[in-house]
Amino acid sequence: MPHLSTKVMNSTNFDACPECDLLLKPAQPKIGEKAHCPRCGLLLSRPHKQSVERTFALSIAGFILFFPANFLPMVGITVLGNVNTGLLMSGVLALFNDGMVAVAIVVFLASVLFPLVHISLSLLISGHLYFNRPNRNLAMWMRWMLHLDEWVMLEVYLLGIIVACVKLMAIAPLKFGWGLYAFIALIIITTMLTSGLDSGLFWQRIEQLRKKDNHEC
Ligand SMILES: [Zn+2]
Repeated sequence: MPHLSTKVMNSTNFDACPECDLLLKPAQPKIGEKAHCPRCGLLLSRPHKQSVERTFALSIAGFILFFPANFLPMVGITVLGNVNTGLLMSGVLALFNDGMVAVAIVVFLASVLFPLVHISLSLLISGHLYFNRPNRNLAMWMRWMLHLDEWVMLEVYLLGIIVACVKLMAIAPLKFGWGLYAFIALIIITTMLTSGLDSGLFWQRIEQLRKKDNHEC
């Protein structure tokens, strides 16, 4: 069966809908338009204006914000004259010390490591495309970045922070630190990054650069 479907795809140049496998002629919507699958309604493509430039700028902003979000205090609490401040990593360490190792690892991956790798890959890819620099790893980086998309869960961590703050407010007054503001800004940036990334255009540009590189070799 795979042979048959490959044959159909090659001879007529159809794309399969990723959701329902309906064979479709590749649509080329203009900027501002959307292409949906006529059977299941899945959004197939939505070209964005200046997606490469936008992604490059947002990645730089995200990369810079990642450090204050991780290393500046998020919340400060004063109990009996003692000031305690919490960093992003404090939550992970607290879980680890409480014996919840698996949860600590998942929280660390989804809120620290994966967001950092995702932003770095997005910076690398959009930087290469922006400056028209071919690189043989571009396609691999792009695949990794699209897979990692599902694992970046900063907003879940923010919900945890809000719940903890509401509970702590009943005990003592809280002081919100720059780490929290940077973290909220980082969430906004990563959401804009994911929603504004025109993967069709990125793949097209990667292919163009690969061809350019092959010609020069
Ligand atoms: Zn479909």
